[in-house]
Amino acid sequence: MRYCQRCGVPRILTSEHSWDSSGMLFLTRDPTHRMVILDNEALNHILDSIADRIGIPVEQIIVEAKRKSGKHFMNAVLSGIKGTFARNLASAKVYQQLAHQTAMLGLGTAQVVAYKRHSFLEGMITDAYNPAAIAGDICGAFESVEHRFGEVSYQTEGNSLRLSITASGSDAEEYLDRFSYEPPPVIDGRNIFELCPLCRGPKDLGRSYDFDIEAGLIHEKKTGHRTVLVGVMTLKSLFGELESELGEEIPRLIMGIEKERVRGVIAAKGRDLDSSEEGYLRFLKTTRLKGMGNGVCVELADGTVKARVDNPYFEPLIAGMLGGFFEAATGGDAEVEWTDGSTGFTEVTLRPA
Ligand SMILES: [Zn+2]
Repeated sequence: MRYCQRCGVPRILTSEHSWDSSGMLFLTRDPTHRMVILDNEALNHILDSIADRIGIPVEQIIVEAKRKSGKHFMNAVLSGIKGTFARNLASAKVYQQLAHQTAMLGLGTAQVVAYKRHSFLEGMITDAYNPAAIAGDICGAFESVEHRFGEVSYQTEGNSLRLSITASGSDAEEYLDRFSYEPPPVIDGRNIFELCPLCRGPKDLGRSYDFDIEAGLIHEKKTGHRTVLVGVMTLKSLFGELESELGEEIPRLIMGIEKERVRGVIAAKGRDLDSSEEGYLRFLKTTRLKGMGNGVCVELADGTVKARVDNPYFEPLIAGMLGGFFEAATGGDAEVEWTDGSTGFTEVTLRPA
C-alpha cells in the first residue's frame, strides 16, 4: 500500500518527514535537514527571471551550488538506506534507491542507464523539476557515494533529461567538506496540526496536494501548480551562490520577482482580500504546512504593515510573498524591507512606495 487509504498521501513521505510546532518540516531520521514545500513554477520563475534580468545564463551556478549541497543531503538520505552498506556496495541499486527518493520529493522520475563503480553514471530523468538543479543534485549524490569528483553534462530530450557524470580525480572529501552551513537558532511555536488517524501525517497535506509517486509529481490542488520538496540548506546555498557570483542585489531581486508573482496569483483570483491584521495572519498560516516558517504577529499602523515570521526558510521569499499580498490588497506598489533571519526570525515592513 503506497498511499494512505485515508488521506491519499504516500506513506513513505509521511514516515520520512516530520512537521513541528514552529513552522518547520524536516527529515525524520535527521532533523538537521530542514525541508520546504515549494511551488516549482515559482522556483523556476525566480531562476529564469534572475538570468533574464542579469543577462547571463545561471545554469552553471545552479549546478555548482546544488552539487556542493547535494552531498550533505544525500548523506542524510543514504543513512536511511543502510548508508555504509550501500556505499560499500556502490552498485546501481544505490542509485535506484535515490531515484525513489527523487520521485517521492516530486522532483521527477530517474532511471539508471549505465553505471560503473567509481567511474561513471548515466541516467534519464523524466519531468525533472529543473534541469540544472537535478543535474547538480545527482552529481552531488554521485560524489557522496563514490568519493570522487564528478563532471556532469546533460541534454534535454523532449520531456526527458539525459545526464552523464564522469568521475575525475580521486578523493573528493576535501573539496566537499568546504561546504558548511550554520542554521539559525530555532524559535519554538505552538502550531498544532490535525493528524490523519491512519498515517499520522498532517491532514492538510492530503487536502492540499495530489501525489503521484510513480510519476515523481506533486501538484497543489488549489492552484494546479507543480510542487516540490527541497532542502532548505540546498536552497539557501543556491541563492547564496547566485548572490556571491552575481552581486549583492540578488536577494532584493528575488524578493521583487516573488512579490510580482504573488501579487499576480492573488489578483487573478479577483476576490476581496481581508487586509486586516487577522487577514495577514491567515495568509501567513499557509506557510506552516510548507515548512516555510511561522507567522507570529502582524501590526498595522498608518498604512504600514509589520509582520514577524519565526524560522523563515528564506527571508527574501517571505518578504516577497508578504509584499505581493500587500500590493494585491492596496492595488499599489509596496516598499519592502526585511531583517536578517540569523536571530531566528525576520521582521518584514511593508508600506506604500
Ligand atoms: Zn493518512
